[in-house]
Amino acid sequence: MLEVKGIDNGIVIDHIGSGKGIKIFNLLFASTETPVVLLMNVKSQLLGSKDIIKVENVYEVDLDLLGLIDPKITVNVIKDGKLSSKTRATIPTTIKGGMKCHNPRCITHSDDYAIPEFTLIKANGKLEYECSFCEEITIYKL
Ligand SMILES: [Zn+2]
Repeated sequence: MLEVKGIDNGIVIDHIGSGKGIKIFNLLFASTETPVVLLMNVKSQLLGSKDIIKVENVYEVDLDLLGLIDPKITVNVIKDGKLSSKTRATIPTTIKGGMKCHNPRCITHSDDYAIPEFTLIKANGKLEYECSFCEEITIYKL
């Protein structure tokens, strides 16, 4: 197995489904100046294989965004070489902005002031959100 030195201070984003690490890297860390390691297709007892991202000198990350990509993700915060906390990514129950309503006739597409708020109604393999304006269901895709 490929060995990569652990980090002393920063976060380790673990249990990322294989292939999703690059997505997270591009969304969150592509323009960062801090050292980042992306490990792909690491063997995992739990998942078969997984991706891992290690970020130095960063302690916070958007758990909602990670949860949308893969709710199995865990985030370990490392301080002075020790595990300081371990948090599971969360699936956001509401999303405001950042997603477009699936209904082409929804007012949110034509009115700049109508910002859609989506409420999670089902999280069963895919995430289904209901639009606050037209009640149409939009499946979250990244
Ligand atoms: Zn709508």
